[in-house]
Order: sequence, then structure tokens, then C-alpha cells
Amino acid sequence: MSSVQNQLDRLLLKVEKPARYIGGELHSVVRQPSPGTVRFAFCFPDLYEIGMSYMGLNILYHLLNQTDHTYCERCFTPARDMAAAMKSAQVPLFTLETKTPLREMDFVGFTLQYELSYTNILSMLDLAGIPFLSKDRSGEDPIIICGGPCAFNAEPVADLMDVILVGDGEELLPEVCRIWKEMKGEGAGKQEFLRRIASLQGVYVPSFYEAMQDEKGGFLGYRKLWEGAPDRVLKAIVEDIDPVDFPKELIVPLIEVVHDRAVAELFRGCTRGCRFCQAGMVYRPVRERSEEKVLDIAKTQLENSGHGELSLLSLSTSDYSRFEPLVTDLMSYCKENQVSLSLPSLRMDNFSFRVMDEIQGIRKTGLTLAAEAGTQRLRNVINKNVTEEHIFTALEQAFDLGWTSVKLYFMMGLPTETYEDLDGIVDLARRIMEMAKAHNGGKVGRYSVSVSVSNFVPKPDTPFMWVRQNTPEEFEKKHYYLKDRLKRIKGVNFRYHGSYASMLEAVFARGGRELSAVLLRAYELGASFDAWTEGFRQDTWEQALEEHGIGENYFALRDIDPQAPLPWDIVDCGITKDFFREEWEKAQAAAVTRDCRLGCNGCGINRHTECRWGGIYDAE
Ligand code: SF4
Repeated sequence: MSSVQNQLDRLLLKVEKPARYIGGELHSVVRQPSPGTVRFAFCFPDLYEIGMSYMGLNILYHLLNQTDHTYCERCFTPARDMAAAMKSAQVPLFTLETKTPLREMDFVGFTLQYELSYTNILSMLDLAGIPFLSKDRSGEDPIIICGGPCAFNAEPVADLMDVILVGDGEELLPEVCRIWKEMKGEGAGKQEFLRRIASLQGVYVPSFYEAMQDEKGGFLGYRKLWEGAPDRVLKAIVEDIDPVDFPKELIVPLIEVVHDRAVAELFRGCTRGCRFCQAGMVYRPVRERSEEKVLDIAKTQLENSGHGELSLLSLSTSDYSRFEPLVTDLMSYCKENQVSLSLPSLRMDNFSFRVMDEIQGIRKTGLTLAAEAGTQRLRNVINKNVTEEHIFTALEQAFDLGWTSVKLYFMMGLPTETYEDLDGIVDLARRIMEMAKAHNGGKVGRYSVSVSVSNFVPKPDTPFMWVRQNTPEEFEKKHYYLKDRLKRIKGVNFRYHGSYASMLEAVFARGGRELSAVLLRAYELGASFDAWTEGFRQDTWEQALEEHGIGENYFALRDIDPQAPLPWDIVDCGITKDFFREEWEKAQAAAVTRDCRLGCNGCGINRHTECRWGGIYDAE
């Protein structure tokens, strides 16, 4: 029994949900690693319940544990009560599988899923007793590595990381671990290793570059500190995802988690080109998994885990080229085996309604429509190809089939937005409610329309990356404007998000390396779990930003010249800047760009890998 395990038993009696920290779940991998095995701690910087719902963890855990060179274990951010108990008992942060302290690992790997999880990385390093900054760590400390969507601009955490992996990790991460095993066996040190892997596509070693600034703190670009480092880091691309092994034995959590279900990935990337969507851009080109593989994965996962729900993973489920036959097959399998099927992000067409009608039966849950903007003009600006006609035709059908609750999603503060666009949201909600009432003899009854508004955050590698965000005051005024008008419509309710947290998200989404000092200070002042409304400490961030003389204006609230160098230029997401600039110009003219399947739009990803989607509709 490890020394951590001895102390842990006592700690667990004092904390909420001890199952977060004990491991031992079905399909978790517990083994005695042989000498020389690379030890990897996959760290999710949030609670167990959040991290265990993230499919990427299962994918990489499975892939690494299949190799003969690496043993991968898991670790999540301890909740505040556990973190305090561990600190006072001096128990270092440990892996769930073998209760090994993180500082004994070869690699401590963080997934960067959202910017507001960054202080939890500090909390985990702190509890592990690992120095925060790469420059303060020795060859004895683990190699700190990260990946995930925020790796496309990980500059705010670059000083914390030894290695940043950009793009698809399925082939790259095992290869990086294999090289470490080989080099460690030869007695090589960390620096030699970093130099060796820096030549791999998708590997970014931040310490090989220095960010340059003008006297006012304006970003000027990077200077290489080691000549062998690439000028830019092109993202890693798995050309064909079909043969890549997908886990069929998901780890079955011990307690209820956010998404407790079997998941099969349909495809990666998107051809639609919504201008605010980073995932739709950086995961291009579209790469599909074959129908046979999806079916096999889904069925085997369900059999092995006993899950009662199956979900399909992609950015736009209905765009899967074999969608109808696949879903027809899955529906009959799920029915036979009493498993519920969840199909996120469906296009509202006849087939989808038939599917939803069948899978939801008489217990119809709310129908979700992501309209994103209240007027056609603004939907054109963002290139969201949904028209009012689509929306109303879909809803007519939905009400006829028995849906009574509609959830409408919008984004607020989009580029070029005016109060007319907000009036458009109110108008849409009103007309939908009228339509609902018409199905109920003119009464609201059990019909409801929920309007949910998120705050627009400009993201790197999108056509909107140069645009300023609304100030928290502007957001608040707009929230109030909508709230005031929507509350006058019976049956309509309104939800919105806090604006300071969205501003912070934009600061870290578009920020540079100078933000690591702010991050450290905010953590020191008590910030953690910033993505959680409860416990979010705005004061810590205000103080940290102010102390470092970094106004939020610089990163979040100012327009950026589209010709200016950007902190995330060091990473090449595969799409050209020219394409983003053209898209931004078209957005300002409210001109739409067609779906790639109607014709290639020249984004540039096909310079790096095959893209077969341009104009496939014409070819058919
Ligand atoms: S290369 Fe052409 S078809 Fe492929 S994603 Fe880019 S714009 Fe679309």
C-alpha cells in the first residue's frame, strides 16, 4: 500500500464525495509498471464529474495504455474541501489508479478544454509540489505537457508548460512518450528530449521562443532562442481517423457524472464555416469514421459498460454522410436493448423529426434550436445558414408531433450587433409562443419557450479573432434590455451568463505570455474553479490584472488590426490568414459563404492534407 493510500483513508472521511478520489472503476487500468515504463498522469483541470464526461480522456488513456512503453493514469482537480485537507495533512496530489504522487511521473499532461480552467492547473501543480514555471523545474521534475482546443493559443500558460501539443493527439502523444522512453533509456536529459521532439508536426516547445513586445507592451512576434526550432508549429493531423483505435471499454464512473453514457465519434471537422466557431475551423478537414466502425464501437461500448444511453460525437450530427442508415440501425438496436439514444446538434429536417419522435416517444424533452442571432442580417454576418423559414417550418412540425417546450440559443455581442438584432430575438420568441398557443386553443398551458443567451467571445483562428468583445457594461445593458422585454411574453423565460467571466475568457483566449503572471497572482489571491458560477471570485481577477498593469482592454475589448502579428501566430492551424481576412470582410458586408460541400472555399487546409469535401454535392 502506498504512503498516500495510508493517509488517504483518513482524509476521505472528512470530504464530500470521496468517490472522486479513490479510482478502481470498471475498465480503469491498474498495473505494476515494469522498470523503464513511461509514467503519464492525464490531468483534467476540473472536478471528477466534469473530467470523466470528457471523451478525449478515454481516447488517450486507452491509446497510451495499449502501448508497451507507457502507463497512463488519471488525476482530476480536488474540490476545495479535499485540496484544503490534503494541504493540511501534507498529502501530495496523486493518480487515481496507483495513488502515486504526480511528481513521480515522467509526464504530467493537462487537457486545455476551456480558458477558465487555467487556475486549476496551478492548483494541481501546487498540490503536487511541482514548481509552476518550466524555468524553475529541474530535470528531476516531470515533463509538463498539454493539448486540447485551447492549445491553439496556449500562450497564457506557455511559461508553465514544457511541451504543448497542437492538433490531433492520437498518434502524436504515444510517439512523444515512446521517444522519451527511448531517450531516457539512453540517459538523455529533458533538454535533449525537447530538441528531438520539436521537429515533430504538432509539437510546440514554448521555451524555444521569446515573445517580443514594443515599449507599450504591444506584441511584435517571436524570436527563436534555439535555431533548430521550427518557425511555426503546424498542427498534427490524423489523415484518416477510421483505423485509429477508439475505446470500446469506457471507464465507468463510480458516482454520477455530467455525461454518463457510451459515445461513438462520427467525424471530426465541419464544412459549414460558422464564423464564430473555433472548433469548426481548427479541426478541418472533415474526416469521417465508417458506418461499420461507428456501429461496432457503439454496440461494444454499450455491451461492455452497461450504460443506458448512447450519444454520437461530432460538430453537426446530421452532416454525417451515412446519417440516415446509421441512425436507423442504431435506433432499432437501442430500442431492442432499452438504451436511450441522444443525438446532439441535429439539423431540423423531416428525417431528424422522425428520428426524434421515435426516440423520445411520448416523453418529449425540450427541442433545442441554435438560432444564434435574432435577425437574418446577423445570421448572415456569422454565416449561420439558418433562416426563419427553417425555424418556423421545423417548429410547426415539432408542435404537431407533440413537443411543448422549445429552447432557443443565441449569442449576444456578436460583431455588428445592434439593438434591432436584440428586438429580433424578442420577436422570434413572441412568434414561436404564438405558434405554440395556436396548438393549444390560444392558451399557453404547458407550452414554454426558453431563450438562452451566451456572451460572444472572440476566439483565435476564426474570422472574428480581430473583433473586440462587448464590455461587461454593454452586455449587462443588453441582458437587461432582453429581460425586460421577454418577461412581458407569457410562457417565455430567459437565461444568460455572467459578463465578467466571459470577458476573462476573451482575455485568456486572445492573450499572450504576459498573462501567466496574472494567472499566478489570481491563484495566489484565491482564484480557482473560475468556470463555476458559485465561488467565482471576480475581485481576485480585478486585482491581479490591475497589479500587472494589464488592462482587459488590451486583450478582450479592443479591435485588432488584421495585419498585426498575433500571439497565436506561432501555431499554424492549417487555415490561411488570407481566408480568415476574406471571411471577416464578407461578414462586415453580411455576405454568406457556402457550405464547402457546395464548392471549396479555399481555406487552405488542403495544402497540408487531403480534403475531399469541396463540391461533393455537385459531384453527386
Ligand atoms: S479545403 Fe476547401 S473544401 Fe476543404 S475545408 Fe477548406 S474550404 Fe472546405
